[in-house]
Amino acid sequence: FKIKKPYNEPIYSYLPGSKERTDLKDKIKELKSKEIEIPLIIGGKEVRTGKVNKCIVPHDKEHVLATYHMAGEKEVNMAIESALNAKREWDNMPWEHRVSIFLKAAELLSGPWRSTLNAATMLAQSKTVFQAEIDAACELIDFLRFNCYYLTQIYNDQPYSSKGVWNRVEYRPLEGFVFAVTPFNFTSIGGNLPTAPALVGNTVLWKPASNAVYSNYFFMKLLQAAGLPDGVINFMPGYGSEIGEYVLKSEYLAGIHFTGSTKVFRGMWKTVGENIDKYRMYPRIVGETGGKDFIFAHKSADIDSLVTAIVRGAFEYQGQKCSAASRAYIPESIWPDVKQKLLKEISTIKMGDVEDFSNFIGAVIDENAFNKIKSYIEYAKSSNEADVIYGGKCNNNKGYFIEPTVIVTNNSKFKTMKEEIFGPVITIYVYNDNNLEETLELCNSTSPYALTGAIFSQDRRITVKMQKALTHSAGNFYINDKPTGAVVGQQPFGGSRASGTNDKAGSMFNLLRWISPRAIKENF
Ligand code: GLU
Repeated sequence: FKIKKPYNEPIYSYLPGSKERTDLKDKIKELKSKEIEIPLIIGGKEVRTGKVNKCIVPHDKEHVLATYHMAGEKEVNMAIESALNAKREWDNMPWEHRVSIFLKAAELLSGPWRSTLNAATMLAQSKTVFQAEIDAACELIDFLRFNCYYLTQIYNDQPYSSKGVWNRVEYRPLEGFVFAVTPFNFTSIGGNLPTAPALVGNTVLWKPASNAVYSNYFFMKLLQAAGLPDGVINFMPGYGSEIGEYVLKSEYLAGIHFTGSTKVFRGMWKTVGENIDKYRMYPRIVGETGGKDFIFAHKSADIDSLVTAIVRGAFEYQGQKCSAASRAYIPESIWPDVKQKLLKEISTIKMGDVEDFSNFIGAVIDENAFNKIKSYIEYAKSSNEADVIYGGKCNNNKGYFIEPTVIVTNNSKFKTMKEEIFGPVITIYVYNDNNLEETLELCNSTSPYALTGAIFSQDRRITVKMQKALTHSAGNFYINDKPTGAVVGQQPFGGSRASGTNDKAGSMFNLLRWISPRAIKENF
């Protein structure tokens, strides 16, 4: 079988008076009106441990959406057992039936479940309607559909056979289970990390980020509604360090599918290294781990598109995308113009409660994030190497609000030019037009990350030079566009260096990591 290459899911506009807007508003109201209890789901069964935590609304922090149960050692062992048991049947299920379950999940999300996933994401992660729609609806649907398509591309790739011989490749899943550890910032990543390995026949333990347990739980329920057999994906919120410790020591660990911080990823990799003699196979380790993404302008840049890219790249979803623009290099000759237009544009940004659809940015995710981002802003304010030219106010009375903030520095290696802040803060370094090469090299070497980056130039020879100089600085490279918003099937996403293993989410590169091929030769 082959599946035709899917189209990307169309983005709804939620215009005033539209049915989708009314449905979404109703769903937000409904979800807010009742606090729910979220159990673990192991082997298809609800498990309550009594060790609980709360899901709150970041822009309305006293509002509790749910109480969720957390896994400990006992539940990890139960989940491993259930994953291994479920594997026998799942792995033997004809692949088109596995595909069918995930295509059905995509249909449900595109239709009746769309408002639930969007509303849950808006409330639990403080995403605006547009940011929720492109994540919890469109991107997640795309992940599901495109992964199914890529699976058929892989399975259909078969070797050459000579006379009297039939050579074939059997695309087996890994031997053991996969551990998916997912972040708060994209409900779609929460959905993709466990489902991609499952699609090709693996069974999974899924630890969602605490701040996304609420929206991720609804996705788990959706998968069950689509007919996912018990035990194929086991949903287990809890403390990462605690769960990780038990999971990573299991001899059946066959893979890790991770998005989160570099520090946690490296810690997991070390633990795997320490336990390497225990495992039945070398675990596949796939991680996407942050960025310090740049916008680099040449003097030939189109200034209006550059300014739009800075505003959208740095501030959409409060800068909490691994891909967010957080440092910019602007030539002296165009800086006055860029600065004036940028300040004018930012002053129109509305920040506030995302349940009011006219707001462009909401709250940052929690108290820890709020304090961390605030401390970077304070550091810049008190330094004589930097000026905060816009924003900088932080207010956590009702929710965790941080103004869009622009820092300008004369030190190209200033702290906020190097370190990931994960908030609505961009630092700008204004360079001398004659120092293009040196500044490109600074851009390449200032931060340890290499996730996304954007260049702005209308001079083809310069564009070529910039692209070459920044070869290893980003896994997703944009010419005359913002560095965020990669679309599944269009710009496969991932970076290298401290940003991850670059196994491109939602692509064949990624699916191949969850497959252990067997080459079979048969003589006639
Ligand atoms: N894929 C997203 C983008 O291109 C970013 C994902 C992330 O933050 O991990 O903006």
